Amino acid sequence: MNYYHLDIEVFPDSKAISGSNTVRYRVLEENQILQIDLQEPLKIVEVSQDGQKLEIRNEGAAHFISLKKKQERGAFEELTIIYEGQPKEAVRPPWDGGITWQKDENGNHFIASSNQGIGSSIWWPSKDHPADEVDSMLISVTVPKDLMNVSNGRLRKVEKRGKTKTYHWFVSNPINDYGVNVNIGDYVHFSEKYPGEKGELDMEYFVLRNNLEKAKVHFQDARRMMEAFEHWFGPYPFYEDSYKLVEAPYLGMEHQSSVTYGNGYQNGYRGTDLSGTGWGMKFDFIIIHESGHEWFANNITYKDVADMWIHESFTNYSESLFLDYHYGKEAGQEYVRGTRTRIENKLPIIGRYSVNSRGSGDMYYKGGNILNTLREIVNDDEKWRSILRGLNAEFYHQTVTTQQVEEYISDRIGLDLSSFFDQYLRNSALPVLEYFYSDEQTLNYRWTNCIASFDMPVDLELGETKVRVIPNTKWNQLKVSQKTEVTVDPDYYVGSFILR
Ligand SMILES: [Zn+2]
Repeated sequence: MNYYHLDIEVFPDSKAISGSNTVRYRVLEENQILQIDLQEPLKIVEVSQDGQKLEIRNEGAAHFISLKKKQERGAFEELTIIYEGQPKEAVRPPWDGGITWQKDENGNHFIASSNQGIGSSIWWPSKDHPADEVDSMLISVTVPKDLMNVSNGRLRKVEKRGKTKTYHWFVSNPINDYGVNVNIGDYVHFSEKYPGEKGELDMEYFVLRNNLEKAKVHFQDARRMMEAFEHWFGPYPFYEDSYKLVEAPYLGMEHQSSVTYGNGYQNGYRGTDLSGTGWGMKFDFIIIHESGHEWFANNITYKDVADMWIHESFTNYSESLFLDYHYGKEAGQEYVRGTRTRIENKLPIIGRYSVNSRGSGDMYYKGGNILNTLREIVNDDEKWRSILRGLNAEFYHQTVTTQQVEEYISDRIGLDLSSFFDQYLRNSALPVLEYFYSDEQTLNYRWTNCIASFDMPVDLELGETKVRVIPNTKWNQLKVSQKTEVTVDPDYYVGSFILR
């Protein structure tokens, strides 16, 4: 698909939606059937092309539309889907998504969509697949006139019509469908200009009326985030669409250029430090983490949710880079190491392909530790930073596979990391360095608890000296001048075991 114009009215009192999505697409192959997704209980009322009504065949959430007009390869075509109904209510947003219908402290409606797992088709008709991003999108949302809607991109205009107002938001960059969102409430707005790497960036904040003063202080983390992440990852990827932080009636989500926020204006993750080191209380987890996704999720997007580590591992890792930038390298390292208690090592990080299966939750904390381990291997922070920035430049506004990301990192580091990634992403075990001295001058070492081809380099401290060894799964030997205690560099995420 190339373009969507989603044009809906939201009825808070009856918890209903009605409207249309006009879809512009390019014909890739000559085919008279086009699939559009929309989940029950929402209903498609009518689909038309060039003024002609079309027939639709249903299979659950998949709607197969029979096109009358001959579809010529390469041609651009348009069709309009009219739909209505009461969309599924979110049970546990953002994880079990849908629409959240709430009221604020003043009794005003406070409504938002969230649908990363369940899919965009839970509230609007789309081609509900991450590999498909439109180049741009217009989101027009009509709400009761006392409320405001905030969606992605920039507000083009507001139209008043009797008892309603229509907000037209235009996204001028490619957008993943799960990132499209509506947020409706009694919002107030403030903003700042950020002098960023690509020029002046508009940073806009939308919060509930009662929270304005709190937000003006607390949202200063957004600017600190932008400074740290532009340093590590390169320019914010959506200058044209601005950066927005929008209060929502749930914890938060990485909606592109309108990151949603519901962490209660407190530091940490709901007020707790996920690392247990104290460093996690230095920032608001939701502002930092969800905004980190602008680079890894919204700029670089997985083609298949099985590769969700591309979103979550890098973004988990971004939390430590935020600390690194503002509080120094050791702060970030302590944070990463501190999160290890949350790793399970039971299931692989990569899920199964083509069946909408994400991998294990280890994609978060273990993912952060894996990337931090790579930084140790590179052992050159400027080079490592250039790789992180390079990923965002190389795959700018693209959907990718894990192979592309793995190969890019291998190439740039200049090391075949295929067994590294096979071990850490496709196998659940934590490699253990096993070692012993066979005599006063011979250290024996090997990797165990890993795949047979695992051969990651690792840094050891032998007394006062640091040495890099490249173990594999067979015994290797290192001659030393004198037997000393062995410490594995703690920033590598590995186990170690001395055989006696
Ligand atoms: Zn995340």
